[in-house]
Amino acid sequence: MADSSLESNDYEEKCIFCNIAKGNIKAKKIYSDDKITAFLDINPANPGHVLIIPNKHVLMFPLLDDSLVGYIFAMAKNISLIMLKVLDSKGSTILVGNGAIAGQKAPHALLHLIPRYPDDDIGLVPPIKQIDDKKIKELRSALTEAMKKFLDEKNIIEKKEEQNEEETDDEFDADRVSKLFLGK
Ligand SMILES: [Zn+2]
Repeated sequence: MADSSLESNDYEEKCIFCNIAKGNIKAKKIYSDDKITAFLDINPANPGHVLIIPNKHVLMFPLLDDSLVGYIFAMAKNISLIMLKVLDSKGSTILVGNGAIAGQKAPHALLHLIPRYPDDDIGLVPPIKQIDDKKIKELRSALTEAMKKFLDEKNIIEKKEEQNEEETDDEFDADRVSKLFLGK
């Protein structure tokens, strides 16, 4: 890849979230293990706003391993249950921005878990727009076809990897996933 900011190793040393995960930068951690770190946002949308990050430097959610995405969301679920009890929240919002256009502020995958209270004035309810029937049909068929192709290719790659397990081991290949994601 030409852009060095897309290289995992390069950016890692400077990345605030990698440094939080490693303990080089102090954060108000509430939970960490070998895969993820969860800590309080110091500029919260509501008191108790938790950020969950993968410990390894991955640019954004779509580039994460499926299993790690599952683990991060499972932990978000667990913490949101705890929030109901301990913070007396009435619900929670789970928010993931993929890319700057979606409000992602740093190039390290991150999940927001925001406890919600009556009249907390946060919003975060998507607007309701009109779309014509033809357009929605086009979108459906484009996405359905692409999804099938994506999953077929992914299955083939994963089967190949299973066969060379000793070589690939647990190593996450961002380049491979990028190619899948970007369809190149
Ligand atoms: Zn990072």
